[in-house]
Amino acid sequence: MSILVTGGAGYIGSHMVWNLVDAGESVTVLDNLSTGFDWAIADAARLVHGDIADETLLDQVLGSGEIDAVIHFAGSIIVPESVSDPLKYYRNNTANSRTLLEACVRNKVRNFIFSSTAAVYGDPVTVPVPEDAALCPLSPYGSSKLMTEIMLADTAKAHDFHYTALRYFNVAGADPKGRTGQSTANATHLIKVACEAALGKRDHLSIFGTDYDTPDGTGVRDYIHVSDLVEAHALALKDLRATGESRVMNCGYGEGFSVRQVIDAVRRASNKDFKVLEEPRRPGDSPKVVARADKIRATLGWQPRYDDLDTIVGHALAWEDGLARRNRL
Ligand code: UDP
Repeated sequence: MSILVTGGAGYIGSHMVWNLVDAGESVTVLDNLSTGFDWAIADAARLVHGDIADETLLDQVLGSGEIDAVIHFAGSIIVPESVSDPLKYYRNNTANSRTLLEACVRNKVRNFIFSSTAAVYGDPVTVPVPEDAALCPLSPYGSSKLMTEIMLADTAKAHDFHYTALRYFNVAGADPKGRTGQSTANATHLIKVACEAALGKRDHLSIFGTDYDTPDGTGVRDYIHVSDLVEAHALALKDLRATGESRVMNCGYGEGFSVRQVIDAVRRASNKDFKVLEEPRRPGDSPKVVARADKIRATLGWQPRYDDLDTIVGHALAWEDGLARRNRL
């Protein structure tokens, strides 16, 4: 059987495609290439250039009878942008996921893995935050993903349909073999931005908020290496195909690092200093978000291989350096 990866040309999606291809799976990518790149997709995968909002196209792809599972990454991912343009997020993340789910049910595709987010917890009361914590997103991004989780739960109750929703904490790093990485222009995520600053692609890095109730006053996050994250999806798929059990699980390491600790790690890895400005808090941000990470280890037997901030930053920096050379060519 074959797997459909939506958003397979994007950052996490392209790592997923490499993971599946490496494991000998047959993969179809559906991507509109709005933020992803066709060159990021492993040659062994088939690219369908199109949109998950296109019902006719979805029926063509899912109706072939070859696809038994969908791994759904396509969507918009920038928290501050979701605050200024919420309806874009409710369209791209919520409405388009609804269209995709309906097409899965219509075409009897039963296994679905969803890229959810720690943003569904908002500002968690208990940190590390367990999966059964209250769901109170602080941003339209978090709400748009939570709404999809709700649709998934209801769909699984009503139909022969099973899903795993993986709530990602802060995904970073790049393929250790250097085959793909975070390539999107105008990045906003901290590790990518810090690597760009270290390589002189930006004039400075801004710290958004230095007055949080955290050890050094800056925001604390649980950074997870993208290769460990996609391996969790591969294990989730195996579990879903074998058991048909729907599950919701955190994807993080259970350890938090502050913005200043990340900056120090990038300075160490690059051996470069760069300008850092202290700015006010960014709307929609939580002070501290760290995963309680035992469920996914116990359920799927997931064992992270790159659970180390310096390794994550080293891989991110190596990719960023390669990208700079590529873009100069
Ligand atoms: N952050 C920052 N400067 C930046 C980007 C991010 O200080 O240029 C902080 C942000 O306020 C948060 C943390 O870094 O505390 C992680 O933010 P990011 O945008 O990487 O991911 P998010 O947690 O919002 O999904």
